[in-house]
Amino acid sequence: MPSLPSTADIVVAGGGPAGATIARLLAGLGFHVVVYEKRAFPRHQIGESLTPQVLPLLDFLGVRARVEAAGFLRMVGHTVCWGSDQPRTSYYSSDHSRQGLQVWRAEFDALLLDHARAGGAAVYERQLVKDVHFHDAGVTVHTGHGYTDARFFIDATGRAGVLARRELRQRDPVFQTLAVSGYWQNAAGPTGVDFANTILETYSDGLVWSVPLHNSLRNVTFLVDWQLGSHIRRSGLSTFYREQVARTPHVAGFLRHAQLALGPWAFDATWHTAITFADKQFLLIGDAGMFVDPLSSEGVHKAMASAITGAAVVNTILRRPAMTAHALQFYDESQRSTYDLHYQQSAQYYQEEQRWPDAPFWQQRATSHEPRVTSHEPRTTSTTVSHIALAPETTIALRPAIEGPFVELREAMVTPSYPRGLRFLERVCLPPLLRAVQEHGALERVMRAYLHTPEGRGCPPEAVRQVLARLYQDGALTATAPDESQSD
Ligand SMILES: Cc1cc2nc3c(=O)[nH]c(=O)nc-3n(C[C@H](O)[C@H](O)[C@H](O)COP(=O)(O)OP(=O)(O)OC[C@H]3O[C@@H](n4cnc5c(N)ncnc54)[C@H](O)[C@@H]3O)c2cc1C
Repeated sequence: MPSLPSTADIVVAGGGPAGATIARLLAGLGFHVVVYEKRAFPRHQIGESLTPQVLPLLDFLGVRARVEAAGFLRMVGHTVCWGSDQPRTSYYSSDHSRQGLQVWRAEFDALLLDHARAGGAAVYERQLVKDVHFHDAGVTVHTGHGYTDARFFIDATGRAGVLARRELRQRDPVFQTLAVSGYWQNAAGPTGVDFANTILETYSDGLVWSVPLHNSLRNVTFLVDWQLGSHIRRSGLSTFYREQVARTPHVAGFLRHAQLALGPWAFDATWHTAITFADKQFLLIGDAGMFVDPLSSEGVHKAMASAITGAAVVNTILRRPAMTAHALQFYDESQRSTYDLHYQQSAQYYQEEQRWPDAPFWQQRATSHEPRVTSHEPRTTSTTVSHIALAPETTIALRPAIEGPFVELREAMVTPSYPRGLRFLERVCLPPLLRAVQEHGALERVMRAYLHTPEGRGCPPEAVRQVLARLYQDGALTATAPDESQSD
């Protein structure tokens, strides 16, 4: 067993996608980063379906080519039996050029952790973080084999949440979910749809989610209500799992000649969020901070995105302490808004399944939410609008934003729909555009004025026109009568 470093700038607990991503970025910024991972990699992890949104994050980390070379299956969309027996396929793009990946997580996660190591992070496997002690001088992290004093601690231990579970975690009362999962060999795959697509099928007690993998296994996972745990204890996990397969005709159909190769296992898949995501000495990233519906296939994306934001936040706290409060506010708000967005999207999705209104799984998830309310009725674009002004609640204000590796204060448009501020829309910089609106009013003059600003130079005029139309539709701008006081 290698001896552990007695000091470090930053200790990251957990070497999954979140921990590996933040370790790589912070080591690249010149910090002495130590990662303690309790298991030996490659290790199994569920969560194979990566939507196309993950690819830009892999680009940002400089690891996309290695991931693509691993030979994981590429999927062009997902096929669902949701609200009806008839399968429906949605594609990420109509020409199938946008593709996601079905990754074998043991391989994918090991690749990311190697990338962190290659970028200068000191990674120690088989090191369980047992305790974290905060004091004036920093933080002391205890593993079973020693301890390390550091300036900052990052909890990336996933659902285990070594720090998060110390009264920072809030379990969701609605999405109390149990996942029961197994891997099959010789599964035929659905007929009439792209083989690599993610398959979803609902039934009265929950839903089944299935993805094929490049190692010829197929993951078949059921999400059911937490309450069914007692039923599982009575009947046994294997019996319960096979019973569920028999109740989902599409999935049962393509498993007819298949054999269960791994599992079944049961996991707690209840949603959670955090009371506090960050402090001047710690950060919760990935599943340690929040866990949303596995059905969204967004867990890895969300984990890596929180790590990328988190790296700028930690860099700011350690190198520009005067900005700590803004950095913490920025991180906290970004995590909360991600959670809220997932919550609203899932609630709407569950409401679309109306076939079993009395079944507890569906009743609970469909009725405990109000549909998402926007703060105003979207307007239709009127071709007759020639003069515009800022709506009364639209302002330009300083808001924390990521600029390179730091959190800085930057001007942004603030409206009731964007209380955290929005600086760019379709690459159009909103503060100078809104100033042009305040100054000129007349649409054509607003456009010309913006195109002469440093931010607007070279921007296609049609893009500016479309952004103005969007702002008008969203209620950030209003139509006005021509005003002679404006320089029109
Ligand atoms: C049933 C199910 C299906 C899912 N499907 C998908 C999907 O299709 N697509 C998707 O994107 N996401 C999916 N997810 C979610 C996804 O798996 C997670 O969001 C993702 O793994 C989070 O990454 P992470 O790095 O935060 O945590 P993890 O991947 O959990 O990594 C945490 C690491 O911390 C280590 N660790 C734990 N405790 C300690 C400790 N005390 N000390 C040191 N190390 C520790 C663990 O060994 C682990 O390696 C699914 C989740 C479930 C439950």
